[in-house]
Amino acid sequence: MKAEIISIGSELTSGAKLDTNSQWLSMELSEIGIPVHFHATMADDRQTMLEVFQTAVKRSDIVLVTGGLGPTLDDLTRELIAELTGTELVLDEPSLNFIRQMFEKRGRVMADRNKIQAMFPAGSEVLSNPVGTAPGIWMAIAREDQSPCLLAALPGVPSEMKIMYRQQVLPRLPQGDRVIRRSSVHCFGQGESNIEEMLGDLTARDRNPEVGITASSATISLRIAAHGSNIADCDKALAVTKTLIREKLSTLVFGEDDDTLQSVVVGLLRKRGLTLTTVEAGTRGMLAQLVSTSAGADSCLLGSVVLNGSPSVVISIGDADDASSADAADSGTGSLSLVSAEETLEMAQNSRRRFESDFALSISPFSEPTAPGEPATSFIALAGDGINEVHEHQILIDPAIARPRAAKGALNLLRLHLISDNS
Ligand code: AMP
Ligand code: MG
Repeated sequence: MKAEIISIGSELTSGAKLDTNSQWLSMELSEIGIPVHFHATMADDRQTMLEVFQTAVKRSDIVLVTGGLGPTLDDLTRELIAELTGTELVLDEPSLNFIRQMFEKRGRVMADRNKIQAMFPAGSEVLSNPVGTAPGIWMAIAREDQSPCLLAALPGVPSEMKIMYRQQVLPRLPQGDRVIRRSSVHCFGQGESNIEEMLGDLTARDRNPEVGITASSATISLRIAAHGSNIADCDKALAVTKTLIREKLSTLVFGEDDDTLQSVVVGLLRKRGLTLTTVEAGTRGMLAQLVSTSAGADSCLLGSVVLNGSPSVVISIGDADDASSADAADSGTGSLSLVSAEETLEMAQNSRRRFESDFALSISPFSEPTAPGEPATSFIALAGDGINEVHEHQILIDPAIARPRAAKGALNLLRLHLISDNS
């Protein structure tokens, strides 16, 4: 059994809107064991739509269409399903009454054009829409030498589509004989290709459970999907694959499923009753934001400093005497300039002393790249009782990438310390 999702709307192909319906429907289908083999997104264009519908019905046993059911001239879905199946559109009186009532409830008069929304290809079933004016269409389309293709057409508005899928489509779908269970493992500290190499044949295409790699803001996630005939078998297979991943990637793995680097670090600190402060320049507050918005951070984050001042202030932050003298010496400097590895460590040490925290993380200003295309550098430091670690960090020029990378790099430094220290 193969399913296909078709999304219709010129606003989707032009890039004005993102097609989120396909993603949502695919996840729903996978839960009941129906694999989705195709997504097709197309403009509101008669010829294109007809061709895609014809192809879909041939190659897929279940076709879910969203969009194009409205009353306007560019809404062509119902007309084309009739054309595809060689049927006439016929008026469904109960649907017409329902649509009329929806307009009356909203204190509006139904336009003549809305009548089209009560027309259905002969032989189809009406999928009622409890929240909008466009009902959907359900139709079993006969095919030569194959079982009929089950086709559902739903409105494009995601909130309407979701309710109608759950109430009207799901009960009509066959249950797949294979269940899919999913989980993910998150890593930090290596690039996508290095991780893939370390995983070896775990990422082979025909493996069950499948392991896929995705990267987002320097975090690499391994998405695992186990296919099987029942949930218990799938969950067992997921657990085995996760153990294999952890064996191969060791401390690069920081968590699973909903875990984030910050939630893991906050969790480790809280478990041991330890506290943290942060001081950062190049990341402009991203480290503070990541930690402070993590659940439970109030009990372990004592304070955060975000700097955009002169280098001496950056270095002496937290040290009241030094700060005032440095300020005087540096007044007028205005912008951040590079500080050294030692100075970055001093930022952390001073912050830790001033806030009286167990740990402090610091991130220096970012250097300017020496040449276009060359990476710039920053330093990240961790200070704690007897801990004075500082790392040079290569950063990409685009601040949108560089900031989360450096902020997460700092969090990872503390995480690695906390998991290696078994006290
Ligand atoms: P339609 O049913 O084609 O009239 O679509 C109504 C509205 O739903 C569109 O203007 C979009 O804002 C939204 N929409 C349609 N298709 C999608 C989709 N695949 N993903 C997300 N939103 C959609
Ligand atoms: Mg549309």
